[in-house]
Amino acid sequence: MARASWRDRIATARSERVATSRTRVRRTVTHRDGAHCTVDGRSLLNFCGNDYLGLSQHFAVTTALQEAASREGAGGVASHLVCGHHALHAQVEHALADWLGVPGALLFGSGFMANLAVVQSLLDDDGLCVQDRLNHASLIDAARLAGCRLRRYPHADAEGALRQLRAEPDAVAMLITDGVFSMDGDVAPLRELALIARAQKALLYVDDAHGVGVLGPDGRGSVAEAGLSVEQVPLQLVTLGKALGGYGAAVVGDADVIAHLAETARPYLYTTALPPAQAAATLAAIGIARREHWRREKLRQLAARFRERARTHGLELLPSDTAIQPVLCGEDARAIAMAQQLEQNGYWVAAIRPPTVPEGRARLRVTLSALHGIGDVDGLVDALARARDATPAPMLETAG
Ligand SMILES: *Cc1c(COP(=O)(O)O)cnc(C)c1O
Repeated sequence: MARASWRDRIATARSERVATSRTRVRRTVTHRDGAHCTVDGRSLLNFCGNDYLGLSQHFAVTTALQEAASREGAGGVASHLVCGHHALHAQVEHALADWLGVPGALLFGSGFMANLAVVQSLLDDDGLCVQDRLNHASLIDAARLAGCRLRRYPHADAEGALRQLRAEPDAVAMLITDGVFSMDGDVAPLRELALIARAQKALLYVDDAHGVGVLGPDGRGSVAEAGLSVEQVPLQLVTLGKALGGYGAAVVGDADVIAHLAETARPYLYTTALPPAQAAATLAAIGIARREHWRREKLRQLAARFRERARTHGLELLPSDTAIQPVLCGEDARAIAMAQQLEQNGYWVAAIRPPTVPEGRARLRVTLSALHGIGDVDGLVDALARARDATPAPMLETAG
């Protein structure tokens, strides 16, 4: 017998990553204090987290977590349908539905699990799943797991979405898009997509992991900003680990769809409920996110400042007005070299490479937080320009 070796397979994959500058390493944070992180004994100004509103260390949020943990414990104990469903979970679901103006909400262990759950319980192998090419990895995996036909359209191309739906007029269909694209920061053409979904009788699902809390009236996200109702967007994903500063996720929207998910979605049924203390933290965070408009206003000001100053320095930006502000670098090795240079200057920015982004589109993904100051952003942009100048880009010049 000549079974191929799993050790060889791992070694081959590893040497391919080394050869293409695609190794990935974790950095260990020993302390977090607002926008600062301590890494390898040094304090860095963090421009790569998703704590957009600065709520993860907010006193009211951490106090709610501590008090609920003291009363109710550290764990979720069981799945929701056995005995894990706690009044704090129900309260968060109500608070989310009330905030976002939708009839129903269902909590999940994470956004990744929620996306797997939604597609798997709504589409079977006869179904059609039409998605933006730049959608989050969990949505792509969700369609694969569901066994449905996955068709992707060019980024933000509503006509492309329509063509894909028209090509299979009989299949039960979902149209899925990120609200705010996680690696680009731009917002999907939601009004056009809603019209198409309605005309094609497809269920529109908007993954608003980076929109809720940040965009729209009272921070209700990209769907509310586009003025769309639950009839037009029957389902949305809200993550609790980004702007809301905690952990977990919720799918919100149409009551019938939510009820169907609660009884059929395997990543809901066969997993432990979120710790109730985490739900308490989220309840506190929702209150602050709704009330404190200055956090969103600050983010807008920081984004505008970043773009204006980056343009004066000739940095290559993408069309984003959100808290996600990528700087294109082209080659993977260049993105990494620039990130290293930034770190030496005290800034932590993530170099994002394929397969997370398309080939030749490696970038520094700068994320802003309401905890940053204008001076922080100015310092970062100046350091970005110095890092760019210190890192030649042969590919970019020939491509230009
Ligand atoms: C982060 C993210 C997710 C996954 O959410 P988690 O709660 O972190 O698992 C899903 N979709 C998008 C667009 C994301 O950015």
